Amino acid sequence: MSAKILYGKDFAAQIKESARLEVENLKNLGVTPGLAVIIVGENPASQVYVRNKHKTCEELGIRSEIVALPENTTKNTLINTIDALNADKNTHGILVQLPLPAEIKNSSEEILNRIDPRKDVDGFHPVNVGNLVIGSPKLVPCTPAGCIEMLDLANIEIDGKRAVIIGRSNIVGKPLFHLLLARHATVTICHTHTKNLPEIAREADILVAASGKPNLVTADMVKPGATVIDVGINRIAPKKLVGDVDFDAVKEIAGAITPVPGGVGLLTVAMLMKNVVKAAKLQLKA
Ligand code: NAD
Repeated sequence: MSAKILYGKDFAAQIKESARLEVENLKNLGVTPGLAVIIVGENPASQVYVRNKHKTCEELGIRSEIVALPENTTKNTLINTIDALNADKNTHGILVQLPLPAEIKNSSEEILNRIDPRKDVDGFHPVNVGNLVIGSPKLVPCTPAGCIEMLDLANIEIDGKRAVIIGRSNIVGKPLFHLLLARHATVTICHTHTKNLPEIAREADILVAASGKPNLVTADMVKPGATVIDVGINRIAPKKLVGDVDFDAVKEIAGAITPVPGGVGLLTVAMLMKNVVKAAKLQLKA
């Protein structure tokens, strides 16, 4: 039997609608949530992502500001820009679009850590990472949060299940590990040094691929009936995106599977909107 296909569009629409209602409530309290996105340089992919975030903010009634800085921006200028946004009470969320240009790329960590943790809507600040690890999440990275939201909206149980994540990045794999653990899954994280990856993957009730390697997950690595979430986005030709999962073969084995494109990737921006609302609420309380 073929797997249920989990299309991101429907889930993203539900998440955005709930964010829109929360924006309305905040506006009734006199607060318009505001997001500032800083983009440095002319990276075309980054420009598309930033425009998409701006458009979604506008759709939901969130104030959106794009701070576009030239390619040759220095670390100090960028830090001063973040400081000004940290101090601006109308800006509730701050995001620095990555990657930064080569000249300042090595300072990415220092630059991101300058963002006030209460405004860190990407959830990358060590304070937010720490809160997640101790089981007291505040602002959580959007892509892994989207995976959990999608499982919930699709009524796929997490509690007590075996979850296996392929990939240990700070953006996807590690935060997802903690989110699944907090929901009482038994979680294994695999990476490039993992021995017997297929054997471990086959144990999963929930298998998440976040490796950036096309076709890494083949049908023989999937337990019949498992839920397979493909986070990978790999451009294999100018107009062809694929995930990390051999979709056509795996959909014949899995119980549910996300496509690429059109899967869990669509939830990332929707979750960003939720984080802006959450940040505005955190600042309202403070
Ligand atoms: P990354 O390169 O930082 O991390 C990849 C991880 O996968 C590493 O921990 C590595 O150990 C592991 N890995 C790589 N090859 C492997 C192999 N052969 N076997 C086992 N483990 C292996 O990447 P990332 O930032 O976590 O992104 C992962 C993928 O998810 C990419 O395709 C990226 O484009 C995509 N992504 C999508 C979204 C979204 O949907 N919005 C957001 C972030 C990343």
